[in-house]
Amino acid sequence: MTQKMQAAVVENFGKPLAIREWDIPQPGPGQILIKTEACGVCHTDLHAANGDWPLKPALPFIPGHEGIGVVTALGKGVTAVKEGDRVGVPWLYSACGHCEYCLAAREPVCADAQFGGYTKNGGFAEFIIADPNYVAHIPSHLASRDAAPLICAGITSYKGIKETQAKPGDWIVISGVGGLGHLAVQYAKAMGLHVCAVDIDDSKLAHAKRLGADAVVNARAEDAIEAVKKATSGGAHGVLITAPSLAAFKQGVGMTRKWGTCVLVGLPPGEFPTPLFDVVANCITIRGSFVGNRLDMAEALAFAVDGKVKADIELQPLSAINKVFERLAHGDVPARVVLEFIDS
Ligand code: NAD
Ligand code: ZN
Ligand code: ZN
Repeated sequence: MTQKMQAAVVENFGKPLAIREWDIPQPGPGQILIKTEACGVCHTDLHAANGDWPLKPALPFIPGHEGIGVVTALGKGVTAVKEGDRVGVPWLYSACGHCEYCLAAREPVCADAQFGGYTKNGGFAEFIIADPNYVAHIPSHLASRDAAPLICAGITSYKGIKETQAKPGDWIVISGVGGLGHLAVQYAKAMGLHVCAVDIDDSKLAHAKRLGADAVVNARAEDAIEAVKKATSGGAHGVLITAPSLAAFKQGVGMTRKWGTCVLVGLPPGEFPTPLFDVVANCITIRGSFVGNRLDMAEALAFAVDGKVKADIELQPLSAINKVFERLAHGDVPARVVLEFIDS
């Protein structure tokens, strides 16, 4: 008889997840089976469960792309990992390895890329099937619960900051100080940048200050663009928009210094108006950034091993997922919730 596991399942878009039994999957050739220890809850999981984006996952599916656990079984031919290794199953679940983007280590945009917790079942379950060539290797000194937020929120923030091309001593705006943003503040400080944190919630801004932000701006309470320009003497060299709100995107472009780069990583559905004359006449770059490649992953984890970055986590059981989603939708999660799987 097939053994069962507990999983949180999206059966219909926009409806609460079903906490129910699901067959424990078996690893096929080239695959591995992981026993989940912890899985972070990303705002992307909420977009996925709501069916927010043009490319929708097939129903039913198990979300979660910050799952960390121990390899318990190997499919035929697997040599890249061994039983007992601790690995993470990220958003970039796999890619073709051969196209022009894969060859250039731009694998998140590979046309054949699969996405964890989206096109493949993810970490809101007691077991996960993964591709051993694309898992994150978790350093031994990092607890699974602490590593979980780093394999999406961490890598995405770190890569997004790199994509701004801001140099040590430059100013960076981190817009949205939630799961991604509270890590982005720490990465940016560790990378020698001056940080101006922007959010609509004073408690998030106080948190950013505690994490080392040099200036904070409440986008609701003041003219955010003017306030940022004042704090950064003319605009930030780099701007990273993590906020899942379209209002933050237009503002972010306005906060960018002449010749600066505004990097978009937040993914609210929709479009935002771009002030074309200002972008052209000020030579501003606007670019998207989508997680990161496997080297970015190793680098993002190394900051945590060095003690320079630490996720602020709140532990919850899998059964609490619908409450967590509700809070995330209302901006009521202080930083990152991590679902912890404890053997009963
Ligand atoms: P979160 O809910 O934990 O944090 C969002 C933060 O933005 C909150 O602190 C909220 O108060 C703040 N905010 C809301 N409206 C704002 C506004 N107008 N201005 C400034 N701040 C505002 O979410 P998260 O898990 O950090 O994810 C953020 C977004 O990033 C989501 O849309 C998610 O899908 C996306 N994401 C993208 C990638 C990528 O690879 N590009 C990876 C992970 C997540
Ligand atoms: Zn994510
Ligand atoms: Zn490819």
